[in-house]
Amino acid sequence: EVRVAPVNPAAEPARRLYVMTFRDMTEARRMDRMRTDFVANASHELRTPLASLMGFIETMQGPARGDEKARDQFFGIMLEQAQRMARLIDDLLSLSRLEMRAHVAPEGSVDLGKTVTHVVDTLKPMADDLGIVIELSLPEAPAVVTGDVDELIQVFSNLVENACKYGQSGKRVEILVTRPEGEGPLVTVRDFGPGIPKEHVPRLTERFYRVDVETSRTKKGTGLGLAIVKHILTRHRARLIIKSVPGEGSSFTVKFSPAETARTDAIKEIYK
Ligand code: ADP
Repeated sequence: EVRVAPVNPAAEPARRLYVMTFRDMTEARRMDRMRTDFVANASHELRTPLASLMGFIETMQGPARGDEKARDQFFGIMLEQAQRMARLIDDLLSLSRLEMRAHVAPEGSVDLGKTVTHVVDTLKPMADDLGIVIELSLPEAPAVVTGDVDELIQVFSNLVENACKYGQSGKRVEILVTRPEGEGPLVTVRDFGPGIPKEHVPRLTERFYRVDVETSRTKKGTGLGLAIVKHILTRHRARLIIKSVPGEGSSFTVKFSPAETARTDAIKEIYK
């Protein structure tokens, strides 16, 4: 895109100065830029725990050699850093697999109530540790969508895990599955934590975007959870609606499109 604009438009034509600006915003260029940023971010995220691991190994080979107490403590930290790298690699692989499947529509039939119940059962020990009670509310008739059950399990796991991690100990997390008349089913995950300042909300699904990097790290986050959620939901033609009131809490709602509602009798029993 080329633009020519006068710097002093009020001046008589012979005295006008012009600036010419060039902007190349072709889709391909933007994608290239995003890819480069992503590789740079991913490398940085992997380098941080790796640098820490190398530092501890060197200390154990040098100054702390023979210090058994320090060694035990260092091994603990080193394991945490290695686990952090493993989580990052798992999330990066998930994203890359999702990108490869981005243009293939999912095919199975998924009962949302059963899927969410399965997620809650899996995450209950973590919620217990954090002092959070998960309350689940399901519709009377099953809410069924066309989708990939493993991917939807990942979506709800990420949302419920975030609600527990960033929610408040001693408070509850609510999960609500509803089937509004004439619309696609909704799954809402709501917490009563500190909430998210408004300016961050539109950016939460960007890769590696965190409101607070330190908090995300201490809570074992990778910054990729909501990016994965968004990818999966796009493939399912579903939307993520985020609402948050600082000081009161946040809600993350997955809205499936009505066309994706599948027939109940097609459900395969895959949970047992
Ligand atoms: P992370 O691995 O850091 O949790 P996510 O992509 O899952 O990454 O989330 C991105 C960021 O969004 C988090 O770092 C956190 O700052 C914010 N966030 C996500 N869910 C919540 C929530 N329920 N309450 C408050 N902040 C949240």
